[in-house]
Amino acid sequence: MLPVTDDRDTAPFFVAAREGRLVYAACPSCERAVHPPLPYCPSCDAGEPVTWRQASGRGTLYGFTTVAHQVHPAFPAPYTVVLVALDDAPDVRLTGMIPGTPALEIGQAMRVWFEDKGQDVVLPQWQPAEEKAA
Ligand SMILES: [Zn+2]
Repeated sequence: MLPVTDDRDTAPFFVAAREGRLVYAACPSCERAVHPPLPYCPSCDAGEPVTWRQASGRGTLYGFTTVAHQVHPAFPAPYTVVLVALDDAPDVRLTGMIPGTPALEIGQAMRVWFEDKGQDVVLPQWQPAEEKAA
């Protein structure tokens, strides 16, 4: 269950993740984040290709849900899906998966870490900011 990492619009995200960097797409003209990534900004008529910006790796927990009933062997339950807004660009919200049922609170500080899934795929994941990096 690995994502497609060579898609034209999203490949730079996965290339950066392999290097341990979190990036997001943004418009070089109006400065808005473009998420999900698109070739061009949908908010203005600049017509310039989006550029990829380095994110700090800090975020804020926007939402979460715990899955108690397993739906696929690749995702043993229970696990918790988190939705994290980047502190650098709050309109950019990324998902992550935390095993088990961690004690979480909306609005708490989160930070990224990078999970090597094998087959040259590295995924940004999230954990509470006060915990040590995995
Ligand atoms: Zn724009």
